[in-house]
Amino acid sequence: MSAVSWLETAVDGAARTGWLDTPHGRVRTPAFMPVGTRAAVKAVDGDDLAALGAGIVLANAYHLMLRPGARVVEDVGGLHAFMGWQGPILTDSGGFQIFSLEPTIDERGATFRSVYDGSLVNLTPEDAIRIQEQLGPDIAMALDICVGLPAGRDRVNDAMQRTLRWAERCLATHTRADQVLFGIVQGGVDPDLRVESAAKTADLGFPGFGIGGLSVGESPQERDLALEAAFSALPTDKPRYVMGLGDAEGLLRAIARGADLFDCVIPTRLARHGRALTRNGDFNIRQARFETDTSPLDPACHCLACTRYSRAYLRHLVRVNEISGLRLLTIHNLHYTLDLVAEAAAAIEAGRFADHLESVLEDRARGSS
Ligand SMILES: [Zn+2]
Repeated sequence: MSAVSWLETAVDGAARTGWLDTPHGRVRTPAFMPVGTRAAVKAVDGDDLAALGAGIVLANAYHLMLRPGARVVEDVGGLHAFMGWQGPILTDSGGFQIFSLEPTIDERGATFRSVYDGSLVNLTPEDAIRIQEQLGPDIAMALDICVGLPAGRDRVNDAMQRTLRWAERCLATHTRADQVLFGIVQGGVDPDLRVESAAKTADLGFPGFGIGGLSVGESPQERDLALEAAFSALPTDKPRYVMGLGDAEGLLRAIARGADLFDCVIPTRLARHGRALTRNGDFNIRQARFETDTSPLDPACHCLACTRYSRAYLRHLVRVNEISGLRLLTIHNLHYTLDLVAEAAAAIEAGRFADHLESVLEDRARGSS
């Protein structure tokens, strides 16, 4: 019996909802994972995340292996104890971060410069697994090779084939029984490569799959086709995690095609720039029109920021760089994104996802500025 499994409870077209069972609890899917890059979701803590109803959080193995080091996290009892978060945790392996550092990649692994002190770091697929076993999340990710788009077919194919070879090495290294390892599907926006990657990754027997290499410069239509191709070749009874996707339209379009899990820095990063995500469109709270606006950020939102504070006050906090302003906007944007996927799950359950998607997108298009 796998330590993590997924149980489908309803389907509506290609969209699906279900439960992800992990050693640290069950999560309703579709689910959005707030990103705790350095074992912290910026500006909030575990109590905030629990109050928001976040079911599962993501931490970044690449950053944690550099600071404080995987051994340190292991020595203090693993990521759950270290972060004070007793819910499920997924770590990404570092493939995506390394891709942004212009690494040297050969068959053995990747070599890149540490973002902290510029020193050269080697990371093999075996290292990536050992590090994640030390960190101790419920779900670890295989080390993959992400290619920025647009890119030629040969380059995308080479990276995809090498990702498959690395996936086998990751599986051969992984031993922890209270943790599962997900494989990662690559293949850029080429549907044939996505099908090949998904089918061959599935053949290796992973209990779940990341769809990597998206949100790296492709159009929404290209992403839709890549997801449809990948999902067509993956087993229907295992979870599918679209890596790095977190804007409202992107989430709903992926859910419509059968995606279950997501992570993205967008909601928290935008909050730190003063941008609020709302049902009636997104806006920057810094704008002068909010100077004496006593209404909440989003009248329909039940988060701490919206139930207690006005736009006028939040605008003031953000403009003078008060830490509480960043925290409140982060709480609001996470609440918005978590609600968006929870409402999608409810709509799938009720068999009205297509209508739901259309009305959410219409409402958002009406008021964005
Ligand atoms: Zn709110």
